[in-house]
Amino acid sequence: MMRQSTEGAVGGSATMSAVVYDKPENFSVQQIAVPAPGPGQVRVRLRRSGVCGTDIHLHHGEFSPKYPLVPGHEMAGVVEAVGENVQSLAPGDQVAINNRLDCGECAQCRRAMPMYCTNLIDHGVTAQGGFAEYVVVPATRCHSGKGLTLDQLVFAEPMACVMHGIDVLGVVPGANVLVFGAGTTGLLLAQALQASGAASVTVAAPTASKLDLASNLGIDHVVQIYRHDPAAGDQELKALAPDGFDIVVDATGSPNVIARTIDLTRSGGTIFLYGMASENAQITLRPFEVFSRQLTIKGSFTQAFSMERGLAMLSSGRVRVDQLLTHRFELSDYADALEAVRNDRSCIKAVIAQGDN
Ligand SMILES: [Zn+2]
Ligand SMILES: [Zn+2]
Repeated sequence: MMRQSTEGAVGGSATMSAVVYDKPENFSVQQIAVPAPGPGQVRVRLRRSGVCGTDIHLHHGEFSPKYPLVPGHEMAGVVEAVGENVQSLAPGDQVAINNRLDCGECAQCRRAMPMYCTNLIDHGVTAQGGFAEYVVVPATRCHSGKGLTLDQLVFAEPMACVMHGIDVLGVVPGANVLVFGAGTTGLLLAQALQASGAASVTVAAPTASKLDLASNLGIDHVVQIYRHDPAAGDQELKALAPDGFDIVVDATGSPNVIARTIDLTRSGGTIFLYGMASENAQITLRPFEVFSRQLTIKGSFTQAFSMERGLAMLSSGRVRVDQLLTHRFELSDYADALEAVRNDRSCIKAVIAQGDN
């Protein structure tokens, strides 16, 4: 028995629009079959799907995508039909989706490391993602979006990644933190750091309007840096932390920026690699410096057990996203959305929007 809402109900042979890649850099908006929810699963009518840097990497075939691929891993929508044995959700419920379906049984899952699940189903990378009208996922991967607008809810997945980052980092209360990058991740992370015990957070980035936004969001200090003159801005940063920052976060993925984090970190401090560098990017590092200055270098990969806490940060207003959603596109304009994420400096978060808020 499958329950489904009467409004917008779809039958077994119905089709839906979706962005489909058949190989790297080659996609079209096609009609594909609407998936049916099996036992324990729900079909969600997608309303907002975030486009992010990961989708650019996927566009070029990085991160081992499976073809045909419907990308999109930041999904928010409304439950439209539920399969057998689903008790927790009903048609009409507004939800954010955890796109990563770890198995719970492999050695990594049993060691509380679901990020490295060997049987992972990864919606938007190895299974159908959010740039479509509908998606089917287990009910267990849906998180209630009650009290949040769809424009807020679409930040649930990046926010979960940020909370995982906070877990991995283990912020020492009172820390003086520098964050490079004022995109979605930089601005979410900077706010979450302030809410998680940092005494002072500085955001450094090249785009003045994004720094103004950081200030509006209550970030303690902002410093403008320049892409072609990476050393400019260093004086201002050093004045904010003469002995170096306790934590320096890279939320850009740029090797040039990452190379500068070491010098700005105090002895005994932590360099936190949060931005996604290209798979083959490299930096030069003096091991003696890491050794003699007791530096810690940490990375943070995706999210784990952090969707609910991310949503709690959004609900409480500790992390604000109202000015971050800058660009909206129709499903049919996916190429324009990719272009905005890639090249439009004014773009913070772009979404594929289907229907009103
Ligand atoms: Zn993302
Ligand atoms: Zn597993």
